[in-house]
Amino acid sequence: MHSAGKLGVPAEGEESETDSEESDVSGSDGDDTSWVSWFCGLRGNEFFCEVDDEYIQDDFNLSGLSSQVPYYEYALDLILDAESPNVDMLTDEQNEMVESAAEMLYGLIHVRYILTSKGLNAMLEKYKNMDFGRCPRVYCAGQPCLPVGQSDIPRTTTVKIYCPKCEDVYYPRSKYQGNIDGAYFGTTFPHLFLMSYPYMKPVKPTVGYVPRIFGFKIHKSAR
Ligand SMILES: [Zn+2]
Repeated sequence: MHSAGKLGVPAEGEESETDSEESDVSGSDGDDTSWVSWFCGLRGNEFFCEVDDEYIQDDFNLSGLSSQVPYYEYALDLILDAESPNVDMLTDEQNEMVESAAEMLYGLIHVRYILTSKGLNAMLEKYKNMDFGRCPRVYCAGQPCLPVGQSDIPRTTTVKIYCPKCEDVYYPRSKYQGNIDGAYFGTTFPHLFLMSYPYMKPVKPTVGYVPRIFGFKIHKSAR
């Protein structure tokens, strides 16, 4: 298990996640999971896809982020499983700040990555797997949803799920997912996704709920 084992997420969450056990297999070298795989396997982080190392290593993709994230270099090294110089000099408190900075940096990289063709494809696999949950609306009949932010500015609102059928947004079912920053998914993602994969767009529901009293539709004048 990764050394950075505390991001304010209950440790027991890791044990009960049988899914993350399976996904560890893809980490090939067995005993040591990458930070990215570890992070995406945490309870509540199911909406995140794994961003390619190559994408993270390209400075061009990260432009502007160094001014938004504290302890930027340390956070980036942590994400890339690289040994930071002078990391031993950090206090426990500073280490915790690096860990939460890494979480934020990953989120800000993630929101960019999921708009690239590789990222869209990674999210397509998750969508097919229904990792983002289903629409709670009865007449959407279990339509799989996509994550969306109501703002692109970090710390504005938490992530929501967008239903492509009724075209509305809802709170995620899990309270762990409900604490994730919406800016790590952004306002563009589900719409660009459905434009990129138009065959994934469901038809609009033709039936809706009709309020009735003793079996009769309620006349407009009665409202
Ligand atoms: Zn719906």
